[in-house]
Amino acid sequence: MSKKWVYLFKEGNADMKALLGGKGANLAEMTNIGLPVPQGFTVTTEACSEYHNQSKKLSDDIVSQINNSLKVLEDQCQKKFGDKKNPLLVSVRSGAKISMPGMMDTILNLGLNDETVIGIANETQNERFAYDSYRRFIQMFGDVVQEISKEKFDRVLEATKEKNNYKDDTDLTADDLKEIVFAYKDIIKQETGKEFPLDPMDQLSLAIEAVFRSWNNNRAITYRNKNDIPHDIGTAVNVQSMVYGNMGDDSGTGVAFTRNPATGQKKLFGEFLINAQGEDVVAGIRTPKNIDELNDIMPEVFHQFKDTAELLEKHYKDMQDIEFTIEKRKLYMLQTRTGKRTAAAALRAAVEMEEEGLITKKEALARLDPLSLDQLLHPVFEEKALGQAKKLAEGLPASPGAATGKIYFTAEAVCAASIKGEETLLVRKETSPEDIEGMYATNGILTARGGMTSHAAVVARGMGKCCVAGCENIKVNETEKQFSVNGETFNEGDYISLDGSTGKVYQGSIKTVNPELSGHFGTIMDWADTYRTMKIRTNADTPNDALVAVGFGAEGIGLCRTEHMFFDEKRLPSVRRMILSETKEQRKKALAEILPMQKDDFKGIYLAMEGRPVTVRLLDPPLHEFLPVEEKDIKSLAKDMNVSYEDMVVVINDLKEFNPMLGHRGCRLAITYPEIAEMQTRAIMEAAIEAKEEKGYNIIPEIMIPLVGINEELTYLDKVVRDTAECVKNEKQSNIDYLVGTMMEIPRATLIADEIAETAEFFSFGTNDLTQMTFGFSRDDAGKFITDYKEKGVLTSDPFQTIDVKGVGKLVETGVKLGRKTKPKLKIGVCGEHGGDPKSIYFFYNAGLDYVSCSPFRVPIARLAAAQAAIMDTHK
Ligand code: PEP
Ligand code: MG
Repeated sequence: MSKKWVYLFKEGNADMKALLGGKGANLAEMTNIGLPVPQGFTVTTEACSEYHNQSKKLSDDIVSQINNSLKVLEDQCQKKFGDKKNPLLVSVRSGAKISMPGMMDTILNLGLNDETVIGIANETQNERFAYDSYRRFIQMFGDVVQEISKEKFDRVLEATKEKNNYKDDTDLTADDLKEIVFAYKDIIKQETGKEFPLDPMDQLSLAIEAVFRSWNNNRAITYRNKNDIPHDIGTAVNVQSMVYGNMGDDSGTGVAFTRNPATGQKKLFGEFLINAQGEDVVAGIRTPKNIDELNDIMPEVFHQFKDTAELLEKHYKDMQDIEFTIEKRKLYMLQTRTGKRTAAAALRAAVEMEEEGLITKKEALARLDPLSLDQLLHPVFEEKALGQAKKLAEGLPASPGAATGKIYFTAEAVCAASIKGEETLLVRKETSPEDIEGMYATNGILTARGGMTSHAAVVARGMGKCCVAGCENIKVNETEKQFSVNGETFNEGDYISLDGSTGKVYQGSIKTVNPELSGHFGTIMDWADTYRTMKIRTNADTPNDALVAVGFGAEGIGLCRTEHMFFDEKRLPSVRRMILSETKEQRKKALAEILPMQKDDFKGIYLAMEGRPVTVRLLDPPLHEFLPVEEKDIKSLAKDMNVSYEDMVVVINDLKEFNPMLGHRGCRLAITYPEIAEMQTRAIMEAAIEAKEEKGYNIIPEIMIPLVGINEELTYLDKVVRDTAECVKNEKQSNIDYLVGTMMEIPRATLIADEIAETAEFFSFGTNDLTQMTFGFSRDDAGKFITDYKEKGVLTSDPFQTIDVKGVGKLVETGVKLGRKTKPKLKIGVCGEHGGDPKSIYFFYNAGLDYVSCSPFRVPIARLAAAQAAIMDTHK
């Protein structure tokens, strides 16, 4: 039997998303639960791959299955495709497994031609409606299938409106529309050299092929790249009998969410337009009405819709984003899918759905995207500064957040300014999928038209980007690169500020502050903490960073880098004296100057951490980094140190390395100059003893030796550190405990981890260096080519962001296994950047690590990701 390429809606279900795409699978599911869905069929994602593999041709088998399904559809609808009297019209819409809103293409009213349009006019007794549908079809067909710019068609429409002094599209008469149809067909002929195809079967196969091709259009590729969606899964095509929202004032179309996608509030949230087709709402051409108003216009339809929306949310156990059409007071469901939402809305909906008994705590946690929490950790406008700011206008609060920047009027201009490091805002009449790159690059988006479900609003919420939409008071002139509001004009490059939570637009830039983390955020974090088993530490070098991290829930410091402390302006002269010392005595003297400062650093951190564990790493970077580069600075240092400029240059040049990342750094430095390690150990121990005596904190300092690759490096330095620590304990008559451990960041170390664990009391994987040395990619230079690698499919993700499980991951697993062979309870963590990356955290959990350590702002993300890893484990 040949392969099944086409499924009737009644043959599918919600679990078939990979094959039928999200839209197709959900249309099938809604059909099966008895909802009013216009009937149709889905051409599978496999047919899409087949089309691309067969040099972009639909195989005979696929065509024949489409024809058979069309016959069934004709029977179901009691209409015939291409029939002059009773024609069947269909919509053709894309739908991939993962929803890509606004990225792919839709064609409505397919099947119309010069004859069927008369059939529709007679049947509906509405000539205006028939020709309105026909002109829409030609325009969409021209745009999607023949790639003719929409503007060419729009110009004709606008000219007709202008000529007749019409305000809205609905003012156009049947005769106007006939003329427009004529002009549209002319555009097609001029642009393609061919007549507009009048045979409905040709229209259908061309449309299906165009949807398959649109899988590889630029905006779809960009969207997939940004959202890590594989390029080979393809899209399905849904062919569905048409229902009409543009049949008059008792018809309409709309989009609604079962909860507010910006805040999560449990209340039907959406918009509709009377006498319109679907794309009018999404494209933001007319500003739609709030869904609540449907209750006044057609109460019985409103209640049926409300009940259906509730049923769908209960059925799918998640917030739904629903498209519907009303044709002559009859409700039809056109689509349902999981609603995209802001992080704040996701948290609130998850917590409230658990309280409502719809989902469990584990389900609530598992469905959240840890990285999206980042949106909530970022600044909001400072209240005082906001109070003093001048409000310019108010639009719809389409996507929350505070954004300030220079205004630009095209996606290209925003991208160019962002590359230069400018803070930007994108101001448009309305956005379209072509603006996607600019929307990614900018701080926030302001549109003059469109509603809460317009392209700008939906896409911005998905990105977690601030957006004010439908701000009708501002008049945008994209050609002149300016907008005006209340008689004032703002030009490209002027600063304004947007509050996406209130919809307000302000003049100038406004100061921002960090947000409070309580309410639903706190609840989710509490739940995460009850399920996770891995500890979450932070990478912090200052008491302030430590306090921020503790505020976000850090349970300790996994990496305190000490080099930053050496760069402090007050200490730099002593640091430089230490580096340039000719004898050990001179060096010790310079180090003695640094000691009290270094002790204060550590004490501040211990106090901020209030007894939580702190891992301090001994000095890591090459010494030349502390020396001046500019001639005038070298001269001034030479004078300071009483040496000649020439001698100073010689010393500096001597310290320079061809490959500093593989040079004299980390433990290698301390082996040459053990007195540095001695000074640091002394500072760490004295600070801990003082903090313990003053505050009673039971501190057990964890002293970490960096860049160990040879066991003897560690045994040598372990002795230096221990001798010093014991000496301090004796001097201070303290019985304080301490641990000496090592970073695992040289591939060799992971391979001899059993030997290393004889000495080390803990391991911390430094996956930044481990990745650098495993791939042989310089950490500082790889950015230049990793994008090319990703684009060409050589790498699927940046290994400095997400752990390379196959290679670096294998070394981590080896290190853990060998280390614990020697010491079964060896404490092991990670402190490279990967410690804050959800996918990597999942890997570290499975590798058996005790904790991950990440930058303060990543701590909540890591808490949730660690909980998800543990939950997934129990589901295995
Ligand atoms: C590492 O290499 O992963 C690490 C944490 O150390 P650094 O980034 O300071 O080299
Ligand atoms: Mg390192």
